[in-house]
Amino acid sequence: MKKIYEGKAKIVYATEDENRVIVFFKDSATAFDATKKAEIEGKGVINNTISSMLFEILNGSGIKTHYIKRLSDREMLVWKAKRFDLEVVVRNITAGSICRRLGMKEGIELKKPLVELFYKKDELHDPLICKSHALMLSLAEEEQIDRMENMALQVNEVLKGFFQACGIILVDFKLEFGILPDGEIAVIDEISPDTCRLWDAESKEKLDKDRFRFDLGNLMEGYKKVLERIQR
Ligand code: 5GP
Repeated sequence: MKKIYEGKAKIVYATEDENRVIVFFKDSATAFDATKKAEIEGKGVINNTISSMLFEILNGSGIKTHYIKRLSDREMLVWKAKRFDLEVVVRNITAGSICRRLGMKEGIELKKPLVELFYKKDELHDPLICKSHALMLSLAEEEQIDRMENMALQVNEVLKGFFQACGIILVDFKLEFGILPDGEIAVIDEISPDTCRLWDAESKEKLDKDRFRFDLGNLMEGYKKVLERIQR
């Protein structure tokens, strides 16, 4: 298969259909602009499985995503997308960069979900931007940004409820968006413990990539707990 793109955690391959591509999930884990790196056996399989399940839930809820089907342990078939160079983060509880940036304590429940935009640009370390910056940089049209923010909030409502039923708190997550061959905006990339903060509802144990970022424990143990609970 012809490789179209290789990122830190995934590879995208062409298929015979120019509108469909295959996403291959690698075992690589990276953090802090890839200054911290490791190969974690089996991570790609778990993330493909979790992402596929979450995309199926979103598709079933009428939220447009690039997901078509899971092809194998590590591969997912998706619609080819023209990606926006934006990361849309939704937060329900304070953690991570918002604590550092605004001097907030971790674990404060927000009165309503907060949506933030980041400029997806490695050289600049993905800076936080506002809508005016995104427009100035021509990253998207105003209506497209509004649409992405609204879709991100819808994703939050669906996934927050789903995880709650699994005994997991959806603290925050990052989404990427693109335009599919039919011209519509869709959620693309992956949704997994690499891109979400997920805490055990009872113990508040961190089950996501923060385990790797901050050496909080075995990454796969956390990811496996997430998978077991959502499969139940
Ligand atoms: P923060 O801004 O607190 O670092 O991240 C907020 C949420 O978005 C977290 O769930 C984090 O995992 C996710 N996130 C933000 N940027 C990235 C990124 O570049 N890669 C990945 N995998 N996740 C990100």
